[in-house]
Formats: sequence, C-alpha cells, structure tokens
Amino acid sequence: MATPAGKPVPVPTRETQPYWEGCRKHELRIQKCVACGHYQFYPRLYCTACMSEQVEWVRASGRGKVLSFTIVYRPVSPAFAADVPYVVALVTLEEGPQMMCNIVGCPPEQVYIGMPVQVTFEDRTEEISIPHFTPV
Ligand SMILES: [Zn+2]
Repeated sequence: MATPAGKPVPVPTRETQPYWEGCRKHELRIQKCVACGHYQFYPRLYCTACMSEQVEWVRASGRGKVLSFTIVYRPVSPAFAADVPYVVALVTLEEGPQMMCNIVGCPPEQVYIGMPVQVTFEDRTEEISIPHFTPV
C-alpha cells in the first residue's frame, strides 16, 4: 500500500494490529511481559527475555532519547524528495526498547545524541498514523 504521493503505508498483521490501533489514536503502545516485566518493541508473540507467551500491550510514556541518528540528503524514493534533508534515528524509550524513527520539528543539524524527545504522529491515511519523535 502507498499514499497517493507514493509513501509506503504499513499493513497491520495479527501481531502488529494493537500497535497500529494505538498509533491511530496517537498513543504509542509497546509490549510488556506479564511473567517477567520486560518491555519490548517491535511486536512479537512471545517475550524476548523469558520466552513467555503472556505479553500484554501497554501505553508507553512516549518519551525517550536519541541513541544514534543519520541525516538523509538523498531520498530513498521520489515520494520522499520533498522531505530531504530528514533525520532517521534510533530512539531509546524510557521503558527501554529502541525504535527506528524520524526526528521532526527541528532542523536536522540541531539533532544530537542524548537529545530528549517525545512521540508525535503523522496521519498518513485515515487508518494509519506513523510515529515520529520531536524535541521535548
Ligand atoms: Zn518475560
């Protein structure tokens, strides 16, 4: 799937449906293991710490810090030509898991490692919203 401009639109699966439902409500959801308390992202059918299948969905704080990032000057497809330069980052959430995302809401040259950020959402279609992060 893609938007009219050609940007990709994720297709929810059985594992990721609760995540995308949360994004649609502008709520960042991650999984928490009922057995050991481990938080994880991306969604899986079992806990990556203890292999328990008792994982539940919880709302994350939406806060985190930039672990690493790069600035993209050459768009990966024409659909992203208007967006360059943009930042692709790895953000460590307060709960522990890391997410690959875009940093938006500031010039790319102002992004730094350790920068506190919070989640924000881009409504890409009526059904799918994409989480990005923005400086706190
Ligand atoms: Zn566990």
